[in-house]
Amino acid sequence: MKRYTRCECGGELKLAEVEVVPGIKSEAYRCEKCGEMEFTEEQMREALRKKERAIKIMVTRKLGEIGGSLVLRIPKSVENRMKLKAGEEVSVTVEKNKIIIEPA
Ligand SMILES: [Zn+2]
Repeated sequence: MKRYTRCECGGELKLAEVEVVPGIKSEAYRCEKCGEMEFTEEQMREALRKKERAIKIMVTRKLGEIGGSLVLRIPKSVENRMKLKAGEEVSVTVEKNKIIIEPA
């Protein structure tokens, strides 16, 4: 397997957790100097696998309404994957045209 240690800019490539898709991190080599990323074949496969799995869990849901407030039901697959429990607190962040729900 090819090992990357030097970047084209002369910086050192260090093993790092990089975001392959928003919220999904995988291992790659990142240049300390310019931030350039390099994946080994194995790292690329792992990153693609994680990306695929992340996409599989993307679902659509209709918003409900209770007492004049909108309600979003969390699908079982998401509940299990994120190990969520009823009564648990989550934070809701609005970013451009996205709503991000994170366990608090
Ligand atoms: Zn570099």
